[in-house]
Amino acid sequence: MKSNEFFEKANFQALIESDGADRLQDKLNVIDVFLSTEEHITLEEMLLLLREKGYDFESGFVKHCMHHMVELGFAQRKQFEGQPIRYEHRHLGRHHDHLVCTKCGKIIEFANEQIERLQVEVAAGYGFHMLQHRMEIYGLCSDCCAKRKPLMPLAMAKAGEIVFVREMAGCRHKQSRLASMGLRTGDRVEIINNSGGGRVILGLENTRLAIGRGMANRIMVSPAQNICQVQ
Ligand SMILES: [Zn+2]
Ligand SMILES: [Zn+2]
Ligand SMILES: [Zn+2]
Repeated sequence: MKSNEFFEKANFQALIESDGADRLQDKLNVIDVFLSTEEHITLEEMLLLLREKGYDFESGFVKHCMHHMVELGFAQRKQFEGQPIRYEHRHLGRHHDHLVCTKCGKIIEFANEQIERLQVEVAAGYGFHMLQHRMEIYGLCSDCCAKRKPLMPLAMAKAGEIVFVREMAGCRHKQSRLASMGLRTGDRVEIINNSGGGRVILGLENTRLAIGRGMANRIMVSPAQNICQVQ
């Protein structure tokens, strides 16, 4: 979300000057570049961006600056599931939550007053005084949805997704092969874990099944509902 870059930088300068920090100008250049991007940026991306703008700072120094900005409330440190640590602006008096695409990694920001209010109400219902929260919705962004085929290998399904088992690719005795794994055509399964390598863990009724990667590439499934349809 857009910041008042000029004011933020002046505020940061005043605080670090009173701290008597060394490399003041370098630090100001780092915050300048950080404020110029609206991305949720990793340390590596930050180093590249600095280099693009002509600053060749060592990674340790930039990391230290990022920590300093977090400490003073100019940046927020975020770690979304399956992703490296990222930094984003922290604007006083403003709050937003995130949609995270588990396929391409895209991060979308949103703010919804009703959700905010409901969270306070839920907490209050337990006699709980809410101080802060984090709302992250994981799924597929509209671009990734558009690229999705109706029939795909099980290996491509994402954790949390509900799919129907359709067929075993390239196998004449597919029914019996599937049955030996405890799966049948038409079964409705929930993807418990699929980290992209290793086994795929499924929930089938009350049982969990572990399917090897090779097999998961040959079992064809279809999403239980068109998750990507805009309501
Ligand atoms: Zn929120
Ligand atoms: Zn995506
Ligand atoms: Zn954000």
